[in-house]
Amino acid sequence: MAKKKESDKDLETLRHSAAHILAHAVKELYPDAKNTIGPAVEEGFYYDFENLDITPADFKTIERKMKEICKKNYPFEKKEVSLAEIKKMFKNNKYKIELAEEFKKAGDKLTIYQDGDFADLCRGPHVESTGKVKAFKLIKIAGAYWRGDQKNKQLTRVYGIAFPSKEELKDYLHKIEEAAKRDHRKIGKELELFSFHDCAPGMPFWHPKGTIVWNELIKYWREEHHKAGYGEIKTPIILNKELWEQSGHWKHFKENMYFTKVDNQDYALKPMNCPGGIQVYKNRVRSYREFPLRWAELGLVHRHELSGVLAGLFRVRSFTQDDAHIYCVDDKQLKEEIKGVITLTDKIYKKFKFDYHVELSTKPEKAMGDAKLWEKAEKALADAMKELKKDYKLNPGDGAFYGPKLDFHLKDALGRTWQCGTLQLDFQLPINFDLKFMGADGTENHKPIMLHRTIYGSIERFIGVLIEHVAGKFPIWVSPVQVKILTVADRFNDYANTVAKKMFDAGIRVDVDDRAESIGKKVREAQLQQINYILVVGEKEVKDKTVTVRTRDNKVHGAEKIDAFIKKVVKEIQERA
Ligand SMILES: [Zn+2]
Ligand SMILES: [Zn+2]
Repeated sequence: MAKKKESDKDLETLRHSAAHILAHAVKELYPDAKNTIGPAVEEGFYYDFENLDITPADFKTIERKMKEICKKNYPFEKKEVSLAEIKKMFKNNKYKIELAEEFKKAGDKLTIYQDGDFADLCRGPHVESTGKVKAFKLIKIAGAYWRGDQKNKQLTRVYGIAFPSKEELKDYLHKIEEAAKRDHRKIGKELELFSFHDCAPGMPFWHPKGTIVWNELIKYWREEHHKAGYGEIKTPIILNKELWEQSGHWKHFKENMYFTKVDNQDYALKPMNCPGGIQVYKNRVRSYREFPLRWAELGLVHRHELSGVLAGLFRVRSFTQDDAHIYCVDDKQLKEEIKGVITLTDKIYKKFKFDYHVELSTKPEKAMGDAKLWEKAEKALADAMKELKKDYKLNPGDGAFYGPKLDFHLKDALGRTWQCGTLQLDFQLPINFDLKFMGADGTENHKPIMLHRTIYGSIERFIGVLIEHVAGKFPIWVSPVQVKILTVADRFNDYANTVAKKMFDAGIRVDVDDRAESIGKKVREAQLQQINYILVVGEKEVKDKTVTVRTRDNKVHGAEKIDAFIKKVVKEIQERA
């Protein structure tokens, strides 16, 4: 695990101290509640209580009490105590006694921390006094079992967040609110992009509009890969057991795979594209002159995830990887190929205005392949980054057992990061599949170096991230509906349809709204549908052969000649502006 920064530790201490204050307040307000544990967690803290029957409506009262405790500025006083003292102090709280007995057994000193008249069994550390906790908020309630064991009694878990300043708390709350507004599941429904159904849990169904988004991403991807010298392959999604045994998946990945039996033979749905792709490689003898080989594959893979972890497009059971496998003959080629992947990834992320950072993960303790090979491969990854003048974060020992890797983490408009792209060296599969090539020496005694890489990662997840990044406001080239023409009254419908036909013929995705609704309502609906250009037509527009242009940000841009408008929009689409 990465070492924690000093500021992270401070924040953790602050949040854990806030958990004490929460327990203090709860005990004053609900004397029969039994407090158990209250750690800091990522982005906040929680405290688990037995016998606490509250709802979020009670948060105000509890927060008010917490504020009182903060205002009193009680110091957190540490005191060493004996097990006997603990048993006396917490005679009504078996949880604390259980913990104390455990600490004692482990040879730890027993300490309590007291603020005002509230004392808690704890190892610390805490902030100096309750007054240091200046900005907090209770967030939610959940059920939790003591020690996570369902056989134990269910406790009430109260979650909160705390920050060193009110501004940071405000920023955080704003971000949460904004994230909820941008939730891709919500926007996906509103814009009719995709849905999920009980007949295939965790496997998205793409609607016509969502499929447009999908196809536009793929079209762009294909163009860029073609320019970068990739070939594209397609392989089956069902492959037999022998193949998965050879690849090692049958042994190491079985619990995440789907199976089927055909003619009494075992088959599996592919969880990864590599073993299928390798069959294309092995179809004939490869000569060193052919390398590097760059083969991309948009492969639909299935991985069984527990139903509890499924989350919209972010965590699914079937997804399409924008995979590619690259085979090289030597170190020089390897470095050039790595640079090529980094450059292509950079170009594609920039197209969507994503910032990103890269992490380099090196040899773990349990690794296959000799140390020299690893050293060379890690150096190739690091040198490629350096030569391209790119920074990266080093994660020592975090590589896969079969090779080192670079991971690309996207940063979205809310500052959240998403690991999407990856570039992995693989020393294992070329051995498992006995990959060879014919060298300049005329023998087949040569092993290629294999690279796996993705840029979008999973197309499904990337679309989810993109939706939240742009809050449903797709760039025009991606938008399912780019232009909508709204008529002021029925008698302008013919004109609207003629204009729409012209745009359609020019390759613009255009709709007409000729319903007998008020123009205000039609504009509002088109804005909510995140249409890039909303055109209003009435008397004046028909007479002047124009359209009045508005954008989804509620700006009115005025009248434009039809042909000039079409030309401008077509250019924007083609340039993927
Ligand atoms: Zn504590
Ligand atoms: Zn692969």
